[in-house]
Amino acid sequence: MPKKGWGIIGASTIAREYMIRAINAQQDSRAVAVMSRSMRRGRRLAQELNVERIYDNLDALLSDPEIDVIYISSTNERHKEETVAAAAAGKHVLCEKPLALTLSDARKMIHACEEAGVIMGTNHHLRNAVTHRKLRSLIRRGAIGRPLAARVFHAVSLPQHLRTWRINNPDAGAGVVLDITVHDTDTLRFILEDEVVEVSAQTASQGMAHEGIEDAVMGVMRFRRGVMAQFHDAFTIAHAGTGLEIHGTEGSLFAENVMTQRPVGRIYRRVNNKKEVITLGPSENLYTRAVRLFNRALDGLGEPSATANDGLRSLAVALSVLESAKTGMCIKVRYG
Ligand code: NDP
Repeated sequence: MPKKGWGIIGASTIAREYMIRAINAQQDSRAVAVMSRSMRRGRRLAQELNVERIYDNLDALLSDPEIDVIYISSTNERHKEETVAAAAAGKHVLCEKPLALTLSDARKMIHACEEAGVIMGTNHHLRNAVTHRKLRSLIRRGAIGRPLAARVFHAVSLPQHLRTWRINNPDAGAGVVLDITVHDTDTLRFILEDEVVEVSAQTASQGMAHEGIEDAVMGVMRFRRGVMAQFHDAFTIAHAGTGLEIHGTEGSLFAENVMTQRPVGRIYRRVNNKKEVITLGPSENLYTRAVRLFNRALDGLGEPSATANDGLRSLAVALSVLESAKTGMCIKVRYG
């Protein structure tokens, strides 16, 4: 069987640190080419990770007949145009989150892929973590009774090398909400198997992001079945660590150090005062699993780990969080 060829759009940090290795770790895929607006940047990335070809424009990349799938990790404002062009060229698309800057653009991306008959996924990596999948299965089988409340602790210190467009370029979708709250949303939707109906939130600029761009947010999401989820996301908090808690009628689940790119963290359950450490199955690199499931979907076996619709939904919630912070109102999430 020939390997599935992946083309990479954007000489990005995430492609360099995780995704190209994840593509090449599969028996059935390889990274064929990198496209960067800068030939120099593209060449550096390609040399570092042994990628054969480099392009400096989209048309050339999309004309490469050995490419079946496009992975998009450019800055957020480019995702729509690149996805629509990839679909028109008959390429499948795995796009980074947030899918776009507006819901209407995200819908156009999904529509373009549907029309072209190609598969589209969203790279929400966290649902690939063994910890998150364990939480979902525990809740599904009633380990804490009926879930009532959740808390997400996702306030981190934005690494120095990422303090670029995320903190200074609104046109690229800067700010912590489109960067981190989208991940919280996807994680909670995945674990609770439920949808957010309304949100209220407040944001702040705490000195890292440029004036007017939020680098911290706290808020509440209310889910359809009644769970209230509180979240704290930030670029400005260096020492807190991350975590996730789900509290139900019969017990509570605590997951420590799980809002991260690495396959780490632990879970315990508390019922009354009794604390039980939960045994986890084998862990897999989150991005390797995402690519593995995407490749399987190309073979007609299941769906990408996070679908295009998952990306649309997490974006809808994040945009509602921004609207709530701006207006001071509780916002009903519109998905349609
Ligand atoms: P980077 O800032 O590293 O890169 C973004 C784009 O900027 C690149 O695709 C590249 O495009 C361009 N670029 C890279 N370096 C430079 C430079 N020195 N000067 C000018 N332009 C440069 O972004 P990230 O990797 O942090 O994020 C990319 C996307 O991935 C975003 O959508 C983000 O939200 C998402 N992401 C997702 C993660 C996940 O776990 N799912 C984790 C991290 C990011 P080009 O080469 O074409 O110029």
